[in-house]
Amino acid sequence: MAFWKKKKQDSTAHQPAQIAPSVTGPNPSTSNLNEIVLQSIHEGVAFIGQDGNVRLANPSAVRLLGRGLDEILGLNYDSVFDFFDKTGQRIEPDRNPIAIALRTGKYAEARDLELLARDSRKVTPISILLSPTPPVDGQSSLVVTFRDIAKELEEEKARSEFISTASHEMRTPVASIEGYLGLALNPSTASIDERARAYLDKAHESSQHLGRLFQDLLDSTKLDDGQIQPKPKAVEVVSLVKSIADEQAGAIAQKGLSYQFGSGSDESQLTGGRHISQVIYASLDVDFMREILNNLIENAIKYTPAGAIGVNVSADDMNVRITVSDTGIGIPREETEHIFQKFYRIDNRDTREIGGTGLGLYLVKERTEAMNGRVWVESTVGQGSKFILLFPRMSEKDYQQRHFAEQNTAMQNAGL
Ligand code: ADP
Repeated sequence: MAFWKKKKQDSTAHQPAQIAPSVTGPNPSTSNLNEIVLQSIHEGVAFIGQDGNVRLANPSAVRLLGRGLDEILGLNYDSVFDFFDKTGQRIEPDRNPIAIALRTGKYAEARDLELLARDSRKVTPISILLSPTPPVDGQSSLVVTFRDIAKELEEEKARSEFISTASHEMRTPVASIEGYLGLALNPSTASIDERARAYLDKAHESSQHLGRLFQDLLDSTKLDDGQIQPKPKAVEVVSLVKSIADEQAGAIAQKGLSYQFGSGSDESQLTGGRHISQVIYASLDVDFMREILNNLIENAIKYTPAGAIGVNVSADDMNVRITVSDTGIGIPREETEHIFQKFYRIDNRDTREIGGTGLGLYLVKERTEAMNGRVWVESTVGQGSKFILLFPRMSEKDYQQRHFAEQNTAMQNAGL
């Protein structure tokens, strides 16, 4: 019997033991080939039935789980897969991704889990793929694929440390180049002829672009490896968003665009609709919010040749909704899910001339999700885009309590 599959109690048909000899023959059957593949791959593969019990586990799964096959087969997944999160906390049964995939019947992946191998008591970081099989009687069974990613994570860490050090080191000389070019271009500190001014203008622009790229790279590596963590505070969202957005009013006007801020229903934002003011509370990191909104508004300015930019805050009982809308070039439908990826830029006739790093929206997404939020875009090519941020809303009572506690802590820290 192939040791990764429990022998059927009631039937001898299709037993691996009978199939195994032909594996080495000239023309192995499809089921033999399946078995060879399952036995040889480095990934752990397990099949979980509709009842949640493990029906099959390949040798790699057995190795990663650190138990004998007989200790796995027929047992409920919950007592086989012992998951921990990054902080070393055991994952509660209702947060177990296998339970979620079995319940929802949806494909899922996770890269932030650790799995306990019972024999060595060792906890290994794993990457896990959960592929529900087509449902039978409305219930789905599940194929679980998992592998050890300790080496991958180490390599990623080394790569991100390199990028972080390199961008940090390069930011300083670039800032100095930008500063000196600024001095050369300033009529009160230097006199240059018009030709030189045109050249230096281009050099100044490029040095600013480079400075932005290094800063974005530094931020993205720091966010990726958890060096920057949000410090959420209880805030009133309308006034916070308004104060950040209003700072960009000058840049918006400089491009010849109009600017509107509103709170309440945002659907009529750019057509001058009526707004109902609300007082909205949430737990947010103010610096993260500044970065997110500045990024979205800078993009709105960049990608809007003429028209208007609007920022709006509204809420229902559960969520706070912040939108940044423009009447710009828009985003093709097939690109909307890619633009939040690292270094992704849309390359077409409209965008080619516009500079950028392709990191801005990645950073927006990382920062938003770090505050338990979501971000997405709705857009029509040629008509404009609306970026939507959604955060959990905080009740006024919770706000008062949190705000009071935060003020007390701040006073204690200040020794008052
Ligand atoms: P970039 O530095 O290129 O602006 P981002 O990550 O901020 O990088 O944005 C990714 C891409 O998404 C951009 O290259 C652009 O094509 C598109 N994009 C972002 N914001 C807008 C917008 N408001 N209108 C149209 N296209 C946009």
